[in-house]
Amino acid sequence: MGSTGPGHRPREQGTRPPLGFAVHDLLRHTSEAGEGLLEEHRADPTALTVVLADVGVLLDGASALHGLALLDGVEPMAQVLLGTRAGTPILATGLDPVALQRLAAHGDRAVADLRMLATAGQVPQTQVGYLAQARSLLAWHATHPFCSRCGAATRLSCAGSRRDCDGCGARHFPRTDPVVIMRVSAGDAVLLGRQRRYPPGTYSCLAGFVEPGETIEAAVARETFEEAGVRVGSVRYVLSQPWPFTSQLMIGCAAEAAHRALDVDLDELEDARWFERDEVHAMLEGRHPDGLVVPPPVAVAHHLIHAFARG
Ligand SMILES: [Zn+2]
Repeated sequence: MGSTGPGHRPREQGTRPPLGFAVHDLLRHTSEAGEGLLEEHRADPTALTVVLADVGVLLDGASALHGLALLDGVEPMAQVLLGTRAGTPILATGLDPVALQRLAAHGDRAVADLRMLATAGQVPQTQVGYLAQARSLLAWHATHPFCSRCGAATRLSCAGSRRDCDGCGARHFPRTDPVVIMRVSAGDAVLLGRQRRYPPGTYSCLAGFVEPGETIEAAVARETFEEAGVRVGSVRYVLSQPWPFTSQLMIGCAAEAAHRALDVDLDELEDARWFERDEVHAMLEGRHPDGLVVPPPVAVAHHLIHAFARG
């Protein structure tokens, strides 16, 4: 049920524009990663790298992939191996923003925002997938310089798929935070809400982090009740998406509501209500009389809502 592979299409996606960050064609080498793996691939003259500073991405024309010679004289904050594509090593290099801007000041180079790249179609979708992996991994390295067990400094190991502590021997692995995002429906109506930080007029699926010791189904039921006061019956998985802000896995689900009565938590949400299918069509097509819209196709919510509208 993963979302990797060049030909992958989430099962309810149909002909919609692609779900952001979900296309990925690299062979990952995490299981074989040991000392020297990064150096071995970095020495390959065909090796390529994406270059980021936080969510700023270095572009050269319509590509985010660069030869390693670009980095001559540059001291990276971190460098990791993302994987190989037909034998070509693909690395990720993290820089500080000043160094990134300095590199961008040459030729056709520019710095683009990762969120914008996922929607703009400026670079191939496979590269957007590499950038998602790169951003989550580099952000984790940048924020985990010390061991959470003994407090000693940790060092990047296994080509970036681990950090090791020489103080106590602990091995630390990158985190992925599971988030459930659910399309809750009752007959011909779907429950959508808006957070205050959303762009004006935007309504989306409810969502929340999975808590320790909780199943996906239980998280969907708990979050739906907490945020909207709605009890749900059956829950099924629909599709998933890596969301690199900073390391979430969005788990898209569909749930049946047991009732339509709402009790919205106005601390969490600005509003939540039921939308009939006709109204959802109008929102998707940009012709809602009140200007209401749903999130763009880059977001998993769009695909969940579109599938509902289609019936
Ligand atoms: Zn330690």
